[in-house]
Amino acid sequence: MELLLLALCCLHFLKTEAVVGNWCYRSQKCEQPQCEDPPRWYLVNKDCNGNKQSPVNIVTKNVVFDKSLKPLTFEGYDVKGSAKWTLENNGHTVKVTLNSSPKFGGGGLGRKYKAVEFHLHWGVPREPQNIPGSEHSIDGEKYPMELHVVHIREDVPNVTEAKKIPEGLAVLAFFVKADKENTNYATLLSELENVQFKGNTKQIDPLPLMSLLPPEEDLRKYYRYEGSLTTPDCHQGVIWTIFVKPVELSLSQLAKFATLHFDSSNSSAMTENFRPPQPLNGREVLWSGASIPLPLAKLLLLLLALALSCTLSSLGH
Ligand SMILES: [Zn+2]
Repeated sequence: MELLLLALCCLHFLKTEAVVGNWCYRSQKCEQPQCEDPPRWYLVNKDCNGNKQSPVNIVTKNVVFDKSLKPLTFEGYDVKGSAKWTLENNGHTVKVTLNSSPKFGGGGLGRKYKAVEFHLHWGVPREPQNIPGSEHSIDGEKYPMELHVVHIREDVPNVTEAKKIPEGLAVLAFFVKADKENTNYATLLSELENVQFKGNTKQIDPLPLMSLLPPEEDLRKYYRYEGSLTTPDCHQGVIWTIFVKPVELSLSQLAKFATLHFDSSNSSAMTENFRPPQPLNGREVLWSGASIPLPLAKLLLLLLALALSCTLSSLGH
């Protein structure tokens, strides 16, 4: 079997040596044997072989606490803008282009970044196969999905210009776990049927971006590292912020994403659109630190108050 695969690969190599195919995910290889899957993305763009690539597996025992990683501050994230959002099946994911510019700052960064689009990566989000499809992983564990909110430095007009300057791009990444139904996603999910095939677009009513994220008070814990875009051109110089608290969607909500297709109506279902983890190559993953969880903090306060009252009453006797 392995020999056969090897032979097939060699054949494939000979066939595509001269012509570089389009890039694709591994799950598309059967349907499009000529396409370049993640190990060969460097043929599409050599940056994909760079030494600061994303995603990565975060090994929690190796992360470095950085006290400058304070909570992020959000501006316009809770506002429902007036301009429509553009929902698009771009043949790799479902992408939402924003027509307003919610911003974030703080979080140890010297400048503000404005959101330009968000998209998701997923596996096979339905039983019985159920393959988790987040791009980043924590101690080797993946979540069902991962949401990427792509930002550019607020002083540049677009992604192309952001790529020309250092630290021009910042992505906020949120894991998505299977849990209870999240009604805030209802509108977005109901629109997916309008962008089933590659190239389909649909103007949709905007939402406050914050409504798609975990509650703001749960966003204090995050990881930070310097990486790249996770699709070709694999541009490096992207500041990654990966939040510990996941977004929650129900299993049937997760399954809706697999109703999309990579291409036209006869093409395979859009599943497993994630890049495998890339080597850290000596990069440090920073950690915002374990702020004491609220229930524990309350308990400690209560104990302190009790101890104080005991001391005071014993002094009184
Ligand atoms: Zn992404």
